[in-house]
Amino acid sequence: MKDDNFLKENNARHLWHPMGHPGDLQANTPTIIKGAEGVHIIDIDGHKVVDAVGGLWCVNLGYSNNAVKDAIARQLYDLPYYSAFGGTTNPTAIEASYMVREFFEADGMVRAFFTSGGSDSVETCLRLSRQYHRLRGEPTRTKFLSLKKGYHGTHFGGASVNGNNRFRLNYEPMLPGCFHLPSPYTYRNPFNETDGAKLAQNIAAAMEDEIAFQGANTIAAFIMEPIQGAGGVIVPDKSFMKLMRDICDRHGILMISDEVITGFGRTGDASGARHWGVQPDMMSTAKGITSGYFPVGATLVNQKVADVFEKDTTGEGAIFHGYTYSAHPVGAAAVIACLTETQRLNTAANAGPRGTQLYEGVLKLAEKYDIIGDVRGGHGLMTGIELVSDKAAKTPMDMPTMKRIHKTAYQAGAMVRLGMHNILMSPPLTISEAEVNTILSALDAGFAAA
Ligand code: PMP
Repeated sequence: MKDDNFLKENNARHLWHPMGHPGDLQANTPTIIKGAEGVHIIDIDGHKVVDAVGGLWCVNLGYSNNAVKDAIARQLYDLPYYSAFGGTTNPTAIEASYMVREFFEADGMVRAFFTSGGSDSVETCLRLSRQYHRLRGEPTRTKFLSLKKGYHGTHFGGASVNGNNRFRLNYEPMLPGCFHLPSPYTYRNPFNETDGAKLAQNIAAAMEDEIAFQGANTIAAFIMEPIQGAGGVIVPDKSFMKLMRDICDRHGILMISDEVITGFGRTGDASGARHWGVQPDMMSTAKGITSGYFPVGATLVNQKVADVFEKDTTGEGAIFHGYTYSAHPVGAAAVIACLTETQRLNTAANAGPRGTQLYEGVLKLAEKYDIIGDVRGGHGLMTGIELVSDKAAKTPMDMPTMKRIHKTAYQAGAMVRLGMHNILMSPPLTISEAEVNTILSALDAGFAAA
């Protein structure tokens, strides 16, 4: 590895970062993370802090899982790569598909299609849902419905159903035929409704209205995150996903649950859909599937969808979609090891109480600091804190203050994530009670510096 001076001098000079302004990053160089241990990350200057972000909502098992590292290393020696296009496959991919499907059996999932990450998994869902309707003889069903504030990756399909215009505006025109409904966000919504159950009813009515306007026979699928992550950790009322499921069923619309964050135990249940008692038609997954140790995603489908493809005799059921690294053997080895560890450590069971501890700790901080406008969480290890400069007017906090809070919290022992004027947290599911307390005291220091 090059020495620290080389790294500091060249930081952001040659590397364009995702979600960053190339010019700004040259002036304010990003923190260089050089190592990691357990739930901690270590930067180039030797600071060791609790990673309250879990990499990027993905390092569910923490950074020191040797079973996963060994499985990856072994697979590199056995078979580093072979393609799964058409006529070939590999033993690890076969086993991984068996395990992923089994993991989501209670969600009704019967088949897995591997990808290289979350955006790919979303794209796969969108493309397969159109093909599904064509195979069924309803080729007019091409449109997609989604929720404002939703995040579904940055491929053109995913960005088109994305509910945050920052990911759209500079890249238009987007995919035609994508329509967005209000988010189940009680703190701010067009109905001025603070009651989650009533807001859910309002959104259901808006969805019915949109479907009537578009014509149900033009809509292929509805995609949603069970808990909106990047949009600010927006936790809907418990009735919400069921209401959406019911509307989809009544209108022949496929329901895609985007489980890229919520899958694999983050909500305290195996999937976010299961957390709300819903079975989707398709699921997009990634992140926790390999805990960030290797880039892998998977799209899963239920029997209803699988049957339409598998029983097709016209040839049109062939899936002309996929990635060079779909079913990559090293990725598959990471999947097998991660799912085995996820089950052995029962990480979902830890996510529940630690998530509640984090959420309740932040609620206490909200009593102390007026800049905390809204606190969202309490359903596993996903917590969002919305900061405001004027509580009554709900004025979003300015970026310089957000950055100061972030920096102070980091110096006090925790890496948190900024999403506009929200602080987002999704620490490893293996986190201990004491490590959650470290996050809370670092946040306290951060807010005190606002
Ligand atoms: N869907 C959701 C719900 C996500 O949170 C993300 C990533 N944060 C994606 C899709 C895109 O995943 P990736 O960044 O792996 O492409």
